[in-house]
Amino acid sequence: MSHALGHRLREGSFPAPSETRKTGVLIIGGGISGLSAAWKLAKSAVDDFLVLEMESEPGGNSRAGQSPLVAYPWGAHYLPLPTSESTLVRELLSELKVLQGDPTAQKPTYDERYLCATPQERVYRNGLWEEGLLPQRGLDAGEREQQQRFHERMDELKRAKGSDGRRLFAIPMELSSRDSEWRQLDKIPFSQWLTENGFTAPSLHWLANYATRDDYGMAHTETSAWAGLHYFACRNGEAANAASDTVLTAPEGNAWLMRGLAASAAGRIVTGAMVWRIEEGKQIVTVDALLGTKTVRFEARQIIWAAPVFILPRVWPAMPGELRSAALAGDYSPWLTANLHLADFPEERHGAPASWDNVFYDSPGLGYVTATHQLIRRHLSGTVFTYYRALHDVTPAEGRRLLLETPREAWAEGILAELERVHPNIRQLTTRLDIFRNAHAMRRPVPGSIWYDHGNKGWPQGQRQKLAGFYNQRIALAHADLSGFSLFEEAQYRGVVAAQRVIQARRQ
Ligand SMILES: Cc1cc2nc3c(=O)[nH]c(=O)nc-3n(C[C@H](O)[C@H](O)[C@H](O)COP(=O)(O)OP(=O)(O)OC[C@H]3O[C@@H](n4cnc5c(N)ncnc54)[C@H](O)[C@@H]3O)c2cc1C
Repeated sequence: MSHALGHRLREGSFPAPSETRKTGVLIIGGGISGLSAAWKLAKSAVDDFLVLEMESEPGGNSRAGQSPLVAYPWGAHYLPLPTSESTLVRELLSELKVLQGDPTAQKPTYDERYLCATPQERVYRNGLWEEGLLPQRGLDAGEREQQQRFHERMDELKRAKGSDGRRLFAIPMELSSRDSEWRQLDKIPFSQWLTENGFTAPSLHWLANYATRDDYGMAHTETSAWAGLHYFACRNGEAANAASDTVLTAPEGNAWLMRGLAASAAGRIVTGAMVWRIEEGKQIVTVDALLGTKTVRFEARQIIWAAPVFILPRVWPAMPGELRSAALAGDYSPWLTANLHLADFPEERHGAPASWDNVFYDSPGLGYVTATHQLIRRHLSGTVFTYYRALHDVTPAEGRRLLLETPREAWAEGILAELERVHPNIRQLTTRLDIFRNAHAMRRPVPGSIWYDHGNKGWPQGQRQKLAGFYNQRIALAHADLSGFSLFEEAQYRGVVAAQRVIQARRQ
């Protein structure tokens, strides 16, 4: 949420409505979840819906920028190969002709333009680039043995099923086993699970910490072990024409997926429309949105809230108390992304060659992805690097304060100094450096937040499940927040489930 708009929402001084529009279903939020709800409605022949998005374009965390040279991501940048449970992802990829042939095949063929070209990733450690993500150089036999055992354990967990016959860790997460023995892992931090299972090697703890910073914006010492294991054990997708750890990507990150979904809502997305009030009546829901300087009142038979759940209590004064507590129970990771436009490819340090994802072992930032990587056969005179940093080493509130109060120039200087370690001449080549500060980027899966409710009467049913289960025939919720962590598959699933609830209610 842009800072100015967020501030306005808290202040609450808005003009009275000057116009009323009517629609069947109103979707609030034009990120992946809202657009997925629209995609499902359109496919189900529901055509009286609108999407309200407060920014000037849809996409939320999956938006992209465009330079004369290449498009580049502002947030989400890849999609792993879909698993067997990810049927909605397969359906979308098949529609977009990126998945070719039978969408239910165990090893589908994918359009090569979207399969990440090799080399996919490298890591910079002790002055040298190493191929892959997990460092190998200079490690003793004991550490290598632990790495091997960790991989084997994760492979076992990928296949393992709970007492209910479901995979322990599925994506979407809602389809995971409810076996209590495994859900208990939600009560401890991921770092504790690793240590208790004999995984003490520093490189393994680094990998786990990198994974939770990358996907959840937080340290592995603060992440639920269930969520940490989900990262490593849920992905079992395969391809006929690529290795199973290959990701699907494009210069613009995940914006191509977002546009694929948005196409089904063509002409129905209203941008620059910030919802500031929701009131539920007996027959309709009244929604007031700021469009430019005026308020437009929308009257809908049903609404789908596809914006972050922490905003909902601010705009829905009569929100039921239990739901309000659940929405406010979690916190969000603050993130900073930067796009550096470079006049040429920068000087390299020794070791593994430039890759799509270039990870830093010992650095505040996670590293950067290269927008031109997929355009490998074209001759380009420059590139764009997208740099990622989760503010994981301070509390979320402190991170938000730092994001807002640290001047842009100071962030830019810090990023250039960090990148200079690996590309000595990057400063001279940078023609433009844009920074995006996202104060509430993604819901934090802290211990207890996925299946329990930390610290509340000895782990009763979780607040997250209350959000995921809520539907009152008029108001449905749909945001990755309902999964407790933010991923494309989760946002898409939540959007489709909300649309299905709405469609079901229309039929009654
Ligand atoms: C830096 C970063 C990197 C990421 N990388 C990846 C990745 O590589 N792969 C991956 O799968 N996921 C990634 N993610 C996760 C990403 O969040 C999800 O993939 C997905 O985009 C979330 O979609 P969503 O609809 O749940 O939420 P959002 O993207 O939060 O969408 C919510 C929308 O609601 C709008 N909105 C909010 N309030 C209002 C209001 N009052 N009125 C109207 N509109 C409103 C917002 O502007 C926004 O467009 C990343 C996230 C971040 C922050």
